[in-house]
Amino acid sequence: MTEPTATAPPTGENPRAEHVEAAVSPVSGDDLARARGTDFFHVEEHLDARERAVVARVREFSDDVVAPVANEHWENAEFPAGLLPAYAGLGVAGGALDGYGCPGLSPLAEGMVTAEFARGDGSVSTFHGVHSGLAMTTIGMLGSAEQQQRWLPDLAAVRRIGAFALTEPDHGSDVVRLDTSAHREPDGSWTLRGRKRWIGNGTIADVVVVWARDDDGRVGAFVVDHPDGAGAPVPGYAARRITGKTANRAVWQAQIELDGVRVDGDCRLELARSFADTNRVLAKSRQTVAWEALGHAVAAYDAAVTYALRREQFGRPLAGFQLVQDKLSHMLADITAMQTMCVRMSQLQADGRAALEHAALTKLATASAARRVCAMARDILGGNGILLDHHVARHHADIEAVYTYEGTDSVQSLIVGRTITGINAFT
Ligand SMILES: Cc1cc2nc3c(=O)[nH]c(=O)nc-3n(C[C@H](O)[C@H](O)[C@H](O)COP(=O)(O)OP(=O)(O)OC[C@H]3O[C@@H](n4cnc5c(N)ncnc54)[C@H](O)[C@@H]3O)c2cc1C
Repeated sequence: MTEPTATAPPTGENPRAEHVEAAVSPVSGDDLARARGTDFFHVEEHLDARERAVVARVREFSDDVVAPVANEHWENAEFPAGLLPAYAGLGVAGGALDGYGCPGLSPLAEGMVTAEFARGDGSVSTFHGVHSGLAMTTIGMLGSAEQQQRWLPDLAAVRRIGAFALTEPDHGSDVVRLDTSAHREPDGSWTLRGRKRWIGNGTIADVVVVWARDDDGRVGAFVVDHPDGAGAPVPGYAARRITGKTANRAVWQAQIELDGVRVDGDCRLELARSFADTNRVLAKSRQTVAWEALGHAVAAYDAAVTYALRREQFGRPLAGFQLVQDKLSHMLADITAMQTMCVRMSQLQADGRAALEHAALTKLATASAARRVCAMARDILGGNGILLDHHVARHHADIEAVYTYEGTDSVQSLIVGRTITGINAFT
């Protein structure tokens, strides 16, 4: 290669750059993000035709709408607000909830939809997980009929955005000890005081479900409604975006200060009476996070297969080397184990038999396996594995957030350990 001349344009405008890129990269980045339909044990056959069509719609959305813009949003830490109308058009917000404009998907279809979002992009799937899997699910599971009617239709249509505020600066894994308080006023309204941290959509949400302790020390869920739209001030509510993240950069989390926020008496969700109710929501939402981990792994695996088939070294495609095939086989084994475990967990949920420990074991297994798969894919892509353009790097980074949120790997293992031994090792 000749040295750049003194008159060469500055980096980024070099007319030879495209040629050089084509020479070192056998596939365009977005090719690598396309689904290969990885489903070795045909798990999708468990869906009915309507649900298969829903999953296919989300797959197309991820391939054609999300993937082409995901890297740029990730790099600039920009929330992809422009995707919201297309997201709303998919009609999947609300997941397994029925009525009030929600799609009433089976737990299995809800899980596969989540995996498809994550296969496209972790930030989009985390947005969906917070809006649909946490905020809407809490209102759907723990709200009265009036409360569901009040908030769910707008959330299902994505006219309004939801958030779920449980974690606090001083209480993450031990969030059962949360300090945020809800004081009952003589007129029946509630005054919220405290701090929340890591709250997805916290700076842009219209409907924020805040977990707090009432005057009797019981944990409840209180809806802070921003009646004039996201960002419009609610007295006492201040949300600041957390910056400098190395994962899920295109979805925003907030640190929230609640300094005397007043909510009406009917904004306490009727069926949220203790932390056991919080756990009912988490048992459900952790299931979708387990599927989310799977989506990241499939994205990384699909990209690695496509890349290995096209990139040549030593005169043949990488895919022709035994060591590379061994890696791909182990990745597929991990993915297929994740898929079959997720399917069974969702079937238990559909039968009303899924417990906190089922979700914990599945999240533990899938998040750590997905981490392995993403790391192997990153390796198969060589140097391109750390370039956003080739998509694997984004999933490799984003899986770290999945590994931690909705309960870390260690916390899931403590929940499972309690079931195995009958001994509670963490209180
Ligand atoms: C990107 C992102 C999005 C999130 N979105 C939301 C949201 O929308 N709403 C919300 O409420 N929260 C949200 N969270 C918070 C998330 O659920 C917490 O980060 C998570 O529960 C862990 O809490 P922590 O970060 O405070 O870690 P810590 O609890 O401080 O844990 C630190 C380490 O200590 C380990 N540890 C803790 N206790 C034990 C123990 N007893 N034994 C062994 N090891 C232990 C943990 O496993 C971990 O490795 C989000 C977090 C992230 C990173």
